[in-house]
Amino acid sequence: MKYKVIYMGGIEGFEAARVELADTAEVIQVEANTDCLNAYIGVADAVIDASMKVKIDNAMVDSAPRLKVISCATTGSDHIDRESVDARGINVNTLKEDRELLQNLTPAAELSWALLMACARKLPQALKHVKSGEWVRECFPGTMLNGKQLGLIGFGRIGGWMARYGQAFGMTVVCNDPYAESIPDFVQSVSLERLMESSDFISVHVHLSDDTRDLVNEGLLCEVKEGAVLINTSRGDIISQNGLLKVLESGRLGAAGLDVIQGEPDIDQNPLVQYAREHDNLLITPHIGGFSPDAVTVVCKRAAEKVRKVLGESK
Ligand code: NAD
Repeated sequence: MKYKVIYMGGIEGFEAARVELADTAEVIQVEANTDCLNAYIGVADAVIDASMKVKIDNAMVDSAPRLKVISCATTGSDHIDRESVDARGINVNTLKEDRELLQNLTPAAELSWALLMACARKLPQALKHVKSGEWVRECFPGTMLNGKQLGLIGFGRIGGWMARYGQAFGMTVVCNDPYAESIPDFVQSVSLERLMESSDFISVHVHLSDDTRDLVNEGLLCEVKEGAVLINTSRGDIISQNGLLKVLESGRLGAAGLDVIQGEPDIDQNPLVQYAREHDNLLITPHIGGFSPDAVTVVCKRAAEKVRKVLGESK
């Protein structure tokens, strides 16, 4: 009898997982919400999660007696209650260990750069302006990137791509990463405090952990260079939400571009979303950084390979 694998995510990833597991398992695509996962989790031997939208908590684990492996087609896994899955001996994979494969996947870095440029050139406001029938360029003074300083918090895969983009745009690049494996000569390593107070553009590229939660705290945010731009595509909890609101409201921070916010996807009451509704200097995208069908196919195939390995070993 074939195993049953639940897949949550886009259609491209489903096809990739289905083909990869054709001899091993029936892959069932379910909508990425708690009710749909609950309806199927009882029969699942494995979950391939390319969505990160559904919290996999203790109750979910309790109702999944056959579950042997959760394979995330993402680098993050903070939506999974690790204590509960570890207690049951459920194998959890993420793409964190797939360094070579990830190195060439650039959508998250590209979105970070797109947000940076959109903030520098007030792009959403300018587009809205023309759609409303206006043509007044004086409303949109842009910031030139050439000669400006880009500060990267976290110098791993995405930080590395951002550094190369910055160099190509004529920027000087500094970084803060106490654990960086290697930093190229054109990037200067500085303290976090120095990075925050001297950079024109700051971009955050660290994983969320107990050490990095609130890493960019209110005190650091209050010291940013006047008019600086802050980009975060890593995780919302890494930046102090109150601090960010404070420096946006005071005008000290020129603009921010976020692909991630605290409590996503429940955004209705989020004060940053409320601020963005009223102000043009905060751009928020709905965690689309890594979401590109080209990349999704590659990562879902890899997630499925890992499921196959675990299910093969459990026979
Ligand atoms: P990576 O592991 O390659 O790099 C992370 C870097 O952070 C490492 O070099 C590590 O040394 C550094 N670091 C750890 N603790 C630090 C600290 N206290 N201070 C400074 N640096 C520290 O990760 P990556 O692939 O570059 O991803 C970075 C982030 O982007 C992750 O949070 C990931 O979840 C997120 N991400 C988001 C999307 C999206 O769709 N928005 C897509 C992919 C990745």
